[in-house]
Amino acid sequence: MARRAKSKKCLKIFALIYATQHGALKVYKGINLASLCESMPENTNPYEAAVEQLEAVEKILGLDPSLTIRLKHPRRVIIVSVPVRMDNGEIKVFTGYRIQHCHARGPFKGGIRYHPKVDIDEVKALAMWMTWKCAVVDIPYGGAKGGVAVDTKQLSKNEIERLTRRYTAMLFDDIGPFKDVPAPDMYTDAQTMAWIMDTYSQLKGYIVPEVVTGKPIELGGSEGRREATGRGAAICAREAAKRMGLKMKDLTVVVQGFGNVGQWAAAVLEEMGCKIVGLSDSTCGIYDPKGFNVRAVMEHKEKTGKLRGFSHGEEITNEELLQLECDILVPAAMENVITEANANKIRAKIISEGANGPSTPKAREILHQQGVHVIPDILANAGGVTVSYFEWLQNLHREHWSESVVNQKLENYLVKAYHDVVKTAEEYKVDLATGAYILAVKRVIDAQERLGLFP
Ligand code: NAD
Repeated sequence: MARRAKSKKCLKIFALIYATQHGALKVYKGINLASLCESMPENTNPYEAAVEQLEAVEKILGLDPSLTIRLKHPRRVIIVSVPVRMDNGEIKVFTGYRIQHCHARGPFKGGIRYHPKVDIDEVKALAMWMTWKCAVVDIPYGGAKGGVAVDTKQLSKNEIERLTRRYTAMLFDDIGPFKDVPAPDMYTDAQTMAWIMDTYSQLKGYIVPEVVTGKPIELGGSEGRREATGRGAAICAREAAKRMGLKMKDLTVVVQGFGNVGQWAAAVLEEMGCKIVGLSDSTCGIYDPKGFNVRAVMEHKEKTGKLRGFSHGEEITNEELLQLECDILVPAAMENVITEANANKIRAKIISEGANGPSTPKAREILHQQGVHVIPDILANAGGVTVSYFEWLQNLHREHWSESVVNQKLENYLVKAYHDVVKTAEEYKVDLATGAYILAVKRVIDAQERLGLFP
């Protein structure tokens, strides 16, 4: 009972981290923050919530707080004022951050986001979250996150380039292939990474592709990176099906969100033999019990920019889509789509969380009680950071791996991670989300203890 109560509290705290990860904190504060944790005051900020999350795991594991105290403080917090000359000659100053949480397991790794609501507590929480995410899939990185408080929609491409280059120059001493390797996040992309790589390389005096991941292929980006997150969600779902004694060729799949993650999750699950019966984007849902040809739907989406108008299937709402009878449901659109209000209407056997935080903690609890196998986002969408790790390895070795090599390696990492998480959850009699955090915290503490404390 005590363990269950602890894991319940854990899940509530995780929700705040998920919301933060997706920039949804404000919404979360309104809807769910008060119920996140009995002991959590209303005004709890995301970093305090991240620390509470760690403390919840600490209690489940019965750890001495001296083992976790260092993890409750980011190793380094960097704040820079980034001056940028605007196209009209005016100079504006933007606040930029880079938080390096822990590097016991390897160089810091984490995205850089450009968003007007970026603030230090959010970035600190996300950096800690990256430490756990890298540890779950057992890649040799620590966690970091960066961001600039800016609304890129108000800037020209040239202004964004100057902002990126100046921000990079100001972080020059703190990032690097063996120190801290940034990647894209909200409102940053492969072009942003190319500018960071070029700026860093200009200051070094030679080309350093391994300083960032998520680059264009021409600059050392990895094959398979675009598909990696969706592929990872599909691999995890397949492993869950195997464990439940289900055959992929007999299974039906519903995917919410037909963007990067959702399209590739659907395409890979179709390749694995499943029938894709439901798909959706922000315009509508489509349902065909006979199954869709995912490539044809992708072509339609590419051509028209939306799912609406696809030649086959019945048009349904997103709410109806989530409640379709199916074996595998992949929520791959946004956070908080499965809530207390609709969790008991979900008729899937397996949920593979492609998006960040698609289920609220209360929904997770209901689903767990209903016997639905929920693969948490920290594991189900870790395919992206795993292939980022492969990109870094290829760059360091000046190699370019084929897509099949990348996919095989991704498969190996995720299959192992899935089974490691299941084993941990069984050992502690908790759900998979709590199991994933327990596994991550244990791995990081083990590394930290082996290294010891200098001097
Ligand atoms: P994307 O913008 O490419 O796709 C999002 C899709 O969701 C779009 O098709 C959009 O139309 C659809 N959508 C938006 N609102 C919707 C709604 N209310 N109902 C149904 N569909 C809706 O984004 P993405 O990169 O695929 O990311 C999706 C999720 O996965 C996000 O939560 C993101 O944080 C998470 N994620 C992505 C990656 C990655 O590598 N891309 C990695 C980890 C996590």
